[in-house]
Formats: sequence, C-alpha cells, structure tokens
Amino acid sequence: MLTTLVIIVSSAVVLALIYLLADRALSAPRYRGPRTDHFDGRRFHNLEPPERKGFIDVLRWQLTSKRGRWNEWTDNDPASLPPPRVGGKELRVTFVNHATVLIQTGGVNILTDPVWSERVSPVTWAGPKRHRPPGLRFEDLPPIDVVLISHNHYDHLDIETLVRLREEHRPRFLVGLGNRALLDAHEVSDVTELDWWETANVSERLGVMCVPAKHFSGRGLGDADATLWCGYVVRAPGGNVYFAGDTGMGSHFAEINKRFGPFRLALLPIGAYLPVWFMHPVHLSPGEAAELHKTLKPRVSMAIHFGTFALGDDGEFEPVDELRRALNAESRFWVLEQGEGRDVP
Ligand code: ZN
Ligand code: ZN
Repeated sequence: MLTTLVIIVSSAVVLALIYLLADRALSAPRYRGPRTDHFDGRRFHNLEPPERKGFIDVLRWQLTSKRGRWNEWTDNDPASLPPPRVGGKELRVTFVNHATVLIQTGGVNILTDPVWSERVSPVTWAGPKRHRPPGLRFEDLPPIDVVLISHNHYDHLDIETLVRLREEHRPRFLVGLGNRALLDAHEVSDVTELDWWETANVSERLGVMCVPAKHFSGRGLGDADATLWCGYVVRAPGGNVYFAGDTGMGSHFAEINKRFGPFRLALLPIGAYLPVWFMHPVHLSPGEAAELHKTLKPRVSMAIHFGTFALGDDGEFEPVDELRRALNAESRFWVLEQGEGRDVP
C-alpha cells in the first residue's frame, strides 16, 4: 500500500519536473508591458473572434486528420541569383521558400521570416521537415540589411538561421513585441520590437510598419500568445509592399489597405488551410487569398506559405491548384518557383 503511494507520488513529481524542464526549454520568454486593445497584461489577443483553437482541438485534429499527398523530396530548378542591390524605385522579389522572401528596393535588401533549417520544430529529430531545399542557398544571398519576423512559430522564427544571419550579414531584425528576449538569449542583437502600427525607419527613404494579423504565437507548452504576431508594410518610394505574415481573414486587411494601399506587391499566404474547422481562424485559404487580391487590388500579389513544409492537411499541390481555380486567367497573382526572382512592375 505504502509502496504504491510512494510510486504514484514520485511518478507525479517526475512528470511535473519533466513538464517544467520541457516548458523552460521550449517556451519563449514572456512579454511584460501595458495593456492595449490586443494585450491583456499577460497574453496578446486578436481584435476579433473566433479566437485560436485549444489543446483539445489539436488532439481532435490529430485523431481525425486526413493528410493530403506530399512527394518525399523535390529538387528545385537552379535559382535566379539575385543582384547585389536594386536601386531607386525598382523592386525585385525572390521567393526562397515558404514565408522566406527576399525583397530588394531603394538600395535595401530585406528578408522575411528566414528559414534555412531542415525542420521547423523545437527538436532536430522530429517535427515538420522540408520537402524541398531552400530555393536560394544561404551562401548566395546578397548582403542582408533588414530581417522581418512575423511571429515566433518555428516555420517563421528559425533561431539557427537568425544566428547565421547575425554572424555573416549583421542585419537589423524587426520583431513584434516580446520577441526580442528569445533573440537576445541566442546573442542575436540589433533587434527592434514593434507594436501594431509602429514604424521603424530602415534607411533614409524606407520605413517598415508593423501591422495587425489574425493569428497566435507560442513555441512551447506555457507561452501561448505571450509574444505578438504581425504583418509588415515596407513603405518604399516606388510603392508599398505588404507582407501579411500568418493570418486568417479579418477586418485588419481593409484597415491596412486604407492606410497604405493600394500596394505595389502583396505577399499572401495560401497554405496550411485544411481542415477548415481548425485552420480557418488563423490561416487564409487559397480562395480567401484570391478574394483579397480582388478587393485590395494590389498591382501584384504573390503566393507564400506553401510547398515546403506539410503543416496542414492540404497536400503539396492543393493550395496552388485551388488558387488557380479561384483566379481569373488575367489576375496578376504570381506563383513563383522556389528560387525564382522577378522584377515587380
Ligand atoms: Zn504561425
Ligand atoms: Zn506558418
């Protein structure tokens, strides 16, 4: 009897310790600051419901999931090497993979959510892995001046890549509130934290504004929504560029467009949209991205967040097939090959 009790108590203590250790190791540090319309003093939240799904929903998804088909591995065609810099009002965009995009304009080179790692996961031996190499080799990057990070999910904030960028390029990192502590912990310096609607000037003529997104954040067990998620608007002399980050449909699109649109280029996510009941609050579907292209009327939209990591139930080619079905033939909604670069009119 006593032995059973000892076993139960010691197992509980061991489990609690494992939980605490795992949580400490895997969770991002927590943001502290004044309350706002999207921060309650402890957690960030979206401006409108529905809120994020909970742990029970994750379980339900895992138990009922019908995964679409992905090829085990696909090599990319050779990349179009980006020029060292693009001056004046010219704008060049290169799609690396997933949410990693190189934007070159006004003599400044900007990289969004850079990920060169094999897996987007807290550990190197499990979790979503690449089905394609990065479209551009890290060594082939031009000098990077600015890195935009939309939120701390592993497929957007890849510490290994940020450390390498810091060592080899010394860029300035822009992040949402609360994300600097994680970068500090890995000695990634020159980080500017921004709240929604705050701007950082990155050159004499270029400003970057942090804008709302409808999403969530967290890297571990105890840091749900403890750091801010966002999109960015690059305000450039030749026209503004909108990087939506990870986001579901919401009224923020109209507000951002009212303030800074119509955009010259809008980077819109189209993947990880299935199953709808789980993904819809936090990710755009290809149909919704097509709808945004029609209502926001950017000169060019470009699809991101597809084809590299299997994060939803949608198969490898479903997002692009679905997007093409939803668009007119004449819509200027680009789907670039991984590693492809284009001049934006
Ligand atoms: Zn995310
Ligand atoms: Zn994502």
